[in-house]
Amino acid sequence: MSRIVEVTTERMSVPLHTPFVTALRRTETTDTVLVRVTDSDGVTGWGEAPQVWQVTGESLAGAEACVAGPLAAAVTGTDADDLAATCRAVAGAVAGNHGAKGAVDVALHDVAARRRGVSLPVLLGSTTLRVATDVTLAAGDADALAETARTRTAEGFGVLKLKVGTDAATDAARVAAVRDAVGPDVGIRLDANQGWTPREAVRVISALEDKGLGVELVEQPVAAADLDGLAWVTARVDTPVMADESVYGLRDLVAVIHRRAADLVNVKLAKCGGLSTGRTLLDLARAHEMGTAVGSMMETHVGLGAAASLAAACGTSVVADLDAAWWARESPYLGGLRYDGATVVLPDAPGLGIEGLA
Ligand SMILES: [Mg+2]
Repeated sequence: MSRIVEVTTERMSVPLHTPFVTALRRTETTDTVLVRVTDSDGVTGWGEAPQVWQVTGESLAGAEACVAGPLAAAVTGTDADDLAATCRAVAGAVAGNHGAKGAVDVALHDVAARRRGVSLPVLLGSTTLRVATDVTLAAGDADALAETARTRTAEGFGVLKLKVGTDAATDAARVAAVRDAVGPDVGIRLDANQGWTPREAVRVISALEDKGLGVELVEQPVAAADLDGLAWVTARVDTPVMADESVYGLRDLVAVIHRRAADLVNVKLAKCGGLSTGRTLLDLARAHEMGTAVGSMMETHVGLGAAASLAAACGTSVVADLDAAWWARESPYLGGLRYDGATVVLPDAPGLGIEGLA
């Protein structure tokens, strides 16, 4: 029997080709903790815990401490092929720390897939290696957004995600500028990142509807904890509303379903802490006629490979939200996924197909 013998962490700071700007921050690097799990046969699996202070409250230092401490203790000596047992041990080892748990969970899946000689999508039950993604436009004024929107559609992206919620008075004008720039056939979705009050959300979304701007969906219009507010908005607009920061794990999704608080859910490994919980979230949403997407934090090709594998295996009702690694100036890894226009292309190789650091 092969046992897990080593769990290591390494900080990475990956330069971006374009600054990533949101209402909350401007960054020119993706900062993350790379996790490697090795078994007694020398097979190494990769995972990552991204820096997400503003979303989940988790930090690189906290992720390192969690992985090196309780999570390493929980998996060291366990059977590398018993993925169900090892991942359960990770999930139950600590409260919170979803990013750290997600990183170890993914690394264990990568080990198991490599041991079986199959890609991660195949381990999860699919042979699909291509997943379409949207692309986020960095925050800016209307003219800058229109210019970037034209550039991204020329690069092949068919769905643009705009960050709104910073200024309810001008949000509609910026969306209109982007629609003008790209014409009627490009998908436009909005992410308010909790930036509106429920009344502001209804006012802005209704204005967008009145202008006929063809917004596909609006993500997280109000504060994460305000499920009543989220339900109030969802009941008053025609545009589909997607829960992101309101849904980490299964209990959160059950609460959203009970209140009919959203029409769709964005599933992310750094929120739900693992691939099997991610799959269950997607199944649960589907069973209640909710729409689904798989997304990510600002992560590199390791975390994105795992998220894209989940999307490939389970499918999503709308185009996935998996552009984060596209922002990297170059991949810091040998092997792993690549982007072909708006498509994430997963390698036809064991596990995540990561062969080492570039
Ligand atoms: Mg979001």
